[in-house]
Amino acid sequence: MTTAKIDFDSFMSDLKDRTPHEDAFHQAVSEVVEDILPLINDNAAYRDAALLQRLTEPDRLISFRVEWMDDENKVQVNRGHRVQFNSAIGPYKGGLRFHPSVDPSVLKFLGFEQIFKNALTGLPMGGGKGGADFDPRGRSDAEIMRFCQSFMLELHRHIGPDVDVPAGDINVGAREIGWLFGAYQRITNSFEGVLTGKGLSFGGSQLRVEATGYGLIQFLCHMLARHDDGIEDKTIVISGAGNVALHAAELALKNGGKVVTLSDSGGFIHDGEGLTQEKIDWVRDHKAKPDSSLGAYAKEFSADWQEGEAPWGVACDVALPCATQNELDEKDAAKLIDNGCMAVAEGANMPTTAKGRERIRKSDILFGPAKAANAGGVAVSGLEISQNQMRRDLSCEELAELLQDIMKTIHDKCVEAAEEDDGKIDYAKGANIAGFRKVADAMMAQGHA
Ligand code: NDP
Repeated sequence: MTTAKIDFDSFMSDLKDRTPHEDAFHQAVSEVVEDILPLINDNAAYRDAALLQRLTEPDRLISFRVEWMDDENKVQVNRGHRVQFNSAIGPYKGGLRFHPSVDPSVLKFLGFEQIFKNALTGLPMGGGKGGADFDPRGRSDAEIMRFCQSFMLELHRHIGPDVDVPAGDINVGAREIGWLFGAYQRITNSFEGVLTGKGLSFGGSQLRVEATGYGLIQFLCHMLARHDDGIEDKTIVISGAGNVALHAAELALKNGGKVVTLSDSGGFIHDGEGLTQEKIDWVRDHKAKPDSSLGAYAKEFSADWQEGEAPWGVACDVALPCATQNELDEKDAAKLIDNGCMAVAEGANMPTTAKGRERIRKSDILFGPAKAANAGGVAVSGLEISQNQMRRDLSCEELAELLQDIMKTIHDKCVEAAEEDDGKIDYAKGANIAGFRKVADAMMAQGHA
C-alpha cells in the first residue's frame, strides 16, 4: 500500500499538536516543508518511509540542570540543552547559545535549520544545536568561566569528535569555547577535536572567527553578480554588532560597499558618513567590555543613535540582518521595499518573520536565506574538524580559498535547485530543496525501523 499524499495544513496542525508552544520551531519547519512537500508528494518511497515525520522529530533532546556558584557564593541554577537533530550525513554539528531566550523551541528551530545548512556545505556534518538560558550580562569573567565548566560537566557525556561537535553562537565566542574545551579535557582526560571555534594554540582554525560574516558577503556578491550587479558603492544596512555583523561590515567595506548602520539590543546607530575599518575596530573593542551599549558610538563619531529601534527604515540598497531571530518583520520588509532595497541576505538565523519573508519573496528584492548565506561559519568549523583529525593545520590562504569555493558552490546549488521567475532566483526554495535532497538520500539509503 502506498502512503497517501501529505497535506501541508494537516501536517503542520499535527506537528503543532505534538509540539505545543514551540512557535519558533513551527516557523522553521513550515518554511522548509512548504518548499519540499512537492518532492515528497512526488515520491511514494519517501512517504512510505515517513521521511518528513522522521526529519521533523529530533533524534534526541537532552535537557539538564546547570548549577554554579556566583561571586557572592550563592548557588545559581540554569537549564542547559543539546538538541541532536539528525546525523544521517555526519556527526551532529551546531553552536551553543547562552541567552535568556534559549528554550527547546528556539534550539529545535536552530537545530532543524542546521541540518540543511550543513548539507549545503558539502561537508559531512549532521544537524544539532545547544545552549542555556544563562544571561552573561552583568556577570563577571569568573562567573562566566564557572558557568561554562558546570555546563560541560553534563554536556561532555553527550558529545565527542565522532558523535557531536558543538561550536559557539550568541554569547559563546572564542573565550567561552576555550573554557568549555578546558573543562572537557580535564573531565575526560583526552585532548580531541570535540569543539570548534577553539583558540589557534589548541587546535583552532584560522579564519573561523571571520568565516560567517565574510561568507555572507561572498554569498551576497554571487547573488548580485548572477543578476548582473555588484556590491561596489551600494549602501548597506546591517543589524547586530557581534561576530557576524562586524565581519560582514569589514568585508563589505573591502569590496567597496558603504555600511551605514549597526545595532545591538539597545538600538541602532546610523552613520551617514559610512563605517571605516577604524570605526569597526572601535566597536569590537567597545562591545567586548561588559554591558557596553552601542549608543556610545554616536558620541565618539558624531553619528545618530536611535534607542529601542531597528535600522530597517534607513534607505539602503542591501539589508543584512545579523543580530537574532525574527528581528525583521512585515512592516520592516515594507519599508525596505518602499526605500528601493534590492537585496536582503540573512547573517543571523531566521532573522526574518514568516510574514516579512513572504513580503520580500513577493517583491523584486533578492533574498539570501540564512541556511545558505550564513553557512560560511559552519563550513570552516567542518574544516577545523578535518584539520584536528589530520593533526595538520591549513594556512589562512588555503582556508580562504576553500571558503570562497564553498560559498560559490552553495550559491550554485541554490540556483540549480531553484526556479527562475522573470530572471529572479528563489534562493530560499533552492536552499531548502538542495539541502533536503542530500539528507533524504542518506536517510533513505540507511533504512528505517
Ligand atoms: P554575538 O553574540 O557575537 O552578537 C550578537 C549581536 O546581536 C549583538 O550585537 C547583540 O546585542 C545583538 N542581539 C542579540 N539579541 C538581540 C535582540 N534580541 N535584539 C537586538 N539585538 C540583539 O553573536 P553572533 O554574531 O555570533 O550571532 C548573530 C546571529 O548569527 C545569531 O542568529 C547566530 O545564530 C547567527 N550565526 C552565527 C554564526 C557564528 O559563526 N557566530 C554562524 C551562523 C549563524 P547585545 O550586545 O546588546 O546583546
